[in-house]
Amino acid sequence: MSYKEATFLLLGDPVSHSLSPLIHNTAFSALGLPFHYAAHRIPMGDETELEKVIREIDGVSLVGVNVTIPHKSAVVPFLDDLTPIARKVGAVNTIYIENGRKVGHNTDVEGFLSPLAGMKLDNKEVVVLGSGGAARAVMVAAQSGLNASRISVVSRNLDSARAACTDLNIGEVRTYADLPELLSTASLIVNATPVGMWPETNQSPLKNPGLLSEKHTVYDLIYNPTETELLRSARIQGASIVGGLQMLIAQAAGAFRIWTGSEMPVKDVSRTINNYLKSTLN
Ligand code: NAP
Repeated sequence: MSYKEATFLLLGDPVSHSLSPLIHNTAFSALGLPFHYAAHRIPMGDETELEKVIREIDGVSLVGVNVTIPHKSAVVPFLDDLTPIARKVGAVNTIYIENGRKVGHNTDVEGFLSPLAGMKLDNKEVVVLGSGGAARAVMVAAQSGLNASRISVVSRNLDSARAACTDLNIGEVRTYADLPELLSTASLIVNATPVGMWPETNQSPLKNPGLLSEKHTVYDLIYNPTETELLRSARIQGASIVGGLQMLIAQAAGAFRIWTGSEMPVKDVSRTINNYLKSTLN
């Protein structure tokens, strides 16, 4: 690829509906920074193209990259170093050259924790629904950022959940049938599945919202719709709710800080993204 200006790329597949270009280009333009952010689709398994683009990161024309599904772990062999958090999660979402070395970061962990910073949780028991890549970042965040006393990973696919708990040495594997027992004591419930995402917006991973009450905080990583069926029913039950858009913007703000040394103008970005979602995707 040739880069006309100081460029940042998102590498993944699919990337055509990603909000990351709008988030970062809004922030660059609000701060008057001469950068441009674009999405670059690399199909799953095309390690040759992945390695080629990582090699092209020179800190000048290709300044840095974000990495998303399905390449967050596949990029690791092409990097010189990982931050401790990226190493712990086993996945990278941001790459930047530091002291001549290509360093892989994982800002999903801080992105997840950011909206919880001002909230009071009833206790430190966390239930994570799903066991994929996002669930792993949530598990690390719950342990390292929230100091959780108990982390339950609720999954249909017990092999995938077992692998997540074993690889990270975090949490215990549970099934959906265990939810009544788990929710009777947990305070934070995190949806790390795609259930409820547009266009299946009437779906919820929690079949019995009557299990929720004002002692719960329900966090849905889905950002489209901004209030999922899970969050809507949790709000009606009196629970505190957190939507995935806050995490999406906070993980982007983490990457922006690594690349530019500046704070992302989060208010400008949130306004632009909310307007965009209202006008197009929903
Ligand atoms: P993933 O690696 O594909 O994992 C998804 C997990 O969801 C799987 O482990 C699967 O768990 C579970 N799942 C899938 N379909 C299901 C169904 N029909 N019913 C119940 N469980 C189902 O995806 P991911 O990258 O972890 O992303 C998960 C969600 O988080 C997506 O909605 C994504 O958009 C969102 N996300 C948001 C942000 C953000 O910044 N807000 C960041 C990352 C991801 P089992 O098979 O083990 O049950």
